[in-house]
Amino acid sequence: MDAKDMDRLGSAMAKADEHKTALGALASSLKGSLIVASDSKEYDAGRKLNWAFNDSGYPVAICNVACVEDVQAVVRAAAGSLSALKLGVRAGGHSSFSVVDDSLVVNLEGLNEVTVDKEKRLVTAGSGCKIGAVDKHLYDTGLGFVTGTNGDTGLTGLTLSGGFGFLSREHGFACDNMVEAQIVIATGAVVIASETENADLLRGLRGGGGNFGIVTRLTLKLHDVSNAFGGLSGRLAPTISAASAIVRNWRDLTMDLPRDSASALALPCGKPVVACVGATFNEAGATAKKRGDLPGLAFIDKLGGWAEPINKFGKLDYHRQLQNLLEPMNQPKFSLTSALALNELKDETITKLIRLVRKEYVSNEGVVIIFKMGGAIADGSVEKSILSHRKCNWWVIYEGNYKRYDTPAKKEKCLDWMKKVKDLLMEGNSGVDIPYPMHDPSLRADKTYEHNAYLPEHKRIAAEIKAKYDRKLT
Ligand SMILES: Cc1cc2nc3c(=O)[nH]c(=O)nc-3n(C[C@H](O)[C@H](O)[C@H](O)COP(=O)(O)OP(=O)(O)OC[C@H]3O[C@@H](n4cnc5c(N)ncnc54)[C@H](O)[C@@H]3O)c2cc1C
Repeated sequence: MDAKDMDRLGSAMAKADEHKTALGALASSLKGSLIVASDSKEYDAGRKLNWAFNDSGYPVAICNVACVEDVQAVVRAAAGSLSALKLGVRAGGHSSFSVVDDSLVVNLEGLNEVTVDKEKRLVTAGSGCKIGAVDKHLYDTGLGFVTGTNGDTGLTGLTLSGGFGFLSREHGFACDNMVEAQIVIATGAVVIASETENADLLRGLRGGGGNFGIVTRLTLKLHDVSNAFGGLSGRLAPTISAASAIVRNWRDLTMDLPRDSASALALPCGKPVVACVGATFNEAGATAKKRGDLPGLAFIDKLGGWAEPINKFGKLDYHRQLQNLLEPMNQPKFSLTSALALNELKDETITKLIRLVRKEYVSNEGVVIIFKMGGAIADGSVEKSILSHRKCNWWVIYEGNYKRYDTPAKKEKCLDWMKKVKDLLMEGNSGVDIPYPMHDPSLRADKTYEHNAYLPEHKRIAAEIKAKYDRKLT
C-alpha cells in the first residue's frame, strides 16, 4: 500500500469516538462483526482495496455483514443514529468508491451463497461473490453467465454498472441478463426486483450502480459456453506506423465480427508489441483445423505486424481457460485506471494514441486496452435499463499505473498522462464516460473526470425510481 495517511486516519478515529454509542449498538445487533477505525492490522485489512495497492479510504467503521438482516440493521442505522456518516458499499472491493473516508462501510463478502438451476439456466449468487467464485460452481456444466474478464472482480459491482465480457456481444451486458435482485432499500425494507415484481426498480439496477439500495442477492441467466475457442496473438510492431496499422486493421476488420465472437487489443506502454485477444462461441470450431477456419477469429491473420511471436489459439474450457486468459496481464498493482466508450476511432487518433503509449508514456506499467463492443449490447433494450451509450463501438480502458517506489512527482506525471489520453479520446471521437472505477482519489476528485455516463433522460428516470423506492416501506 501507499504510505498510511495519519491525518485521515485521525479524522476517522475521532468520528468513531464521537459516534461510539451508536456504533456499539449497531455492533451488538449484528450477526457479523464491526471494525472501528484504529491504527490496527485488522482495520487496515478491512479497508484495503482488493485489487489496487493504492492507499484506500479511511472509514469510521466497517460492518462485515453475515446475513440480509445485518444489511437491514446497517441501513437503518445509516438512516438514523449514524446518519452523519456516508454509507459505503463494498462487494468485490475492486473500486475505490466502495471504501471512502469518514464512512460506514458495508462489507458484503459474507453473503457468498451460490445456487445453480441448470434446467431453468439460472444462477443465483450472494452479492459478496467474486465472479471467479461463481464461475467455479459452473465448472463442467457447459453453462456460463455474462460477466467480466477478471475472476477477482465483484459480481455485484460489475453487474450493477453494466458488466462487459466475452459473452456480451452475443448476450448483452451482464445487467441485461440479471432477471432478479434482492435489495435492501433506504427504509431498511427488503424488496425483490424482477420483470414481474417492481420491474421499474430492476430497470434502475440495470446500469444504476448502488443508487437504489444495497443488493444482497442476484439471479442471472446462463448460456451455452461448451463451444469456446480463442486465445492470444502477440504481434511484433516496433514502429509507430506498424502499431498504428495493426490498430486500424483491427478496427476495420472487427466491424463485421460475428456476434458470437469477441476481441480486444492491448497496447502496453513502452513495449514493441500489440496483443490481440479473440474468442468465439461457434460449433464450427469442432472441425476447424486452424484459427482462420473460424469466422470469428479469421480476422487475426490479417492484422499485420512484423511477426507473430505469440500465437496461442484453440479450444478453451470457458471457465478454467478463457475466463482466466487475461489474468496474467491483470494483476493487482498501484492502479490509475479509467475507461471511455467511443463511437469513432479515427486514423489520426490511433496514431496519436500509439505515440502516447510508445513515446510519451511515463510508466511502463501503463497500458491501453480496447474492447470491441456492438452486437447484442447495441440492440439491448434501452427501455429495460438506464444504460445510455449502448451504440458505442469501442470500450477503451486506459491505465497510467505506477510502481511502489515511484516518487509523488512521477505519480503526478502518470495522472497527467491519463488526462492526455482522455483528452485525445474525447476530442473528435465522441467519447463518453461509462460507469467505471478509478483507483485513485485524486482522479475521482478531478473535475475533468466528471462523468457523462448517463443521458439526461436516463438521469430523470433514475431519479424517479429512486424517489419512489427511497420512501417505500415494504
Ligand atoms: C482488474 C479489473 C478488471 C475489470 N474487468 C472488467 C470487465 O471485464 N468487465 C467489466 O464490465 N468491468 C470490469 N471491471 C470494472 C468492474 O466491473 C468495476 O470495478 C466494479 O465496480 C467492480 O465491482 P466490485 O464489486 O468488485 O467493486 P466494489 O468496489 O466492491 O463496488 C463498487 C461500487 O459498486 C456498488 N456496489 C457494489 N456492490 C453493491 C451492492 N451489493 N449493492 C449496491 N451497490 C453495490 C457500490 O456503489 C460500490 O461502491 C474491472 C475492474 C478491474 C479493477
